[in-house]
Amino acid sequence: QALIRLEGITKRFSTDELETHALANVHLEIYPGEFVSITGPSGCGKSTLLSILGLLDSISEGRYILNGTPVERLSVDERSRIRNREIGIIFQSFNLIGDLTVAENVELPLTYRGLSAPQRKQAVEQALEQVGMSHRLRHYPAQLSGGQQQRVAVARALAGTPAILLADEPTGNLDSTNGEAVMELLRALHRAGTTICMVTHEPRFTSYGDRTVWMLDGQVIGVGKAGEMASQS
Ligand code: ADP
Ligand code: ADP
Repeated sequence: QALIRLEGITKRFSTDELETHALANVHLEIYPGEFVSITGPSGCGKSTLLSILGLLDSISEGRYILNGTPVERLSVDERSRIRNREIGIIFQSFNLIGDLTVAENVELPLTYRGLSAPQRKQAVEQALEQVGMSHRLRHYPAQLSGGQQQRVAVARALAGTPAILLADEPTGNLDSTNGEAVMELLRALHRAGTTICMVTHEPRFTSYGDRTVWMLDGQVIGVGKAGEMASQS
């Protein structure tokens, strides 16, 4: 069974004068254990698609089935509950909280999940171990490099053992060395069983995944093995 199934998703944004079709009739399936990359030029709808997958944005038309549950008509509360349980997200700009330590940042989302303090502590340590940041528990984000901050953001996203990790341009604010290190981390997590869906405008990073979705003007124009799709561009 697909972990994620999008059926004919359309997303419109209305402004004063005109209506933008950010997404037009998008179909997509993601299976457990897959690493799917979504790529295409700026403005093609990648971020909008990821926001919809992450239950951060609503759908204009179509159906979104997440782990067997149609989520497009859920209440805001239901949606938050499912987001907290099923989805971990990392962003281009890391989005760590500056006046919390590394450990506190990773623990924060766990506080909404009814875990005891010792359970939270164990989940935080395990997640930081997974990303190789156990030695920075008491540091603050500003004391870390960009690559290290993104590792902590990955730990925060994974600490609650979500069904899928979503990544929106995870290397966008990193130099190429740190960018590649974060991609290697995603590859290692994928090999260890994590389901990943990443948005990137850099075709070379799609080779880290096992399937690429190619977008243009709000539509999916191709799906295939990473290498094959990249060579079409
Ligand atoms: P990408 O991530 O591929 O750069 P986006 O998903 O950000 O593309 O944007 C797709 C299209 O939708 C663009 O034309 C963009 O200007 C438009 N768009 C995105 N978000 C909004 C919004 N909140 N309001 C109006 N238009 C938007
Ligand atoms: P990114 O480069 O990370 O994809 P964008 O510049 O596309 O970021 O979008 C940043 C934010 O602005 C997003 O929340 C997006 O929904 C919003 N946005 C993008 N295009 C528009 C637009 N034309 N009008 C209003 N909001 C927009």
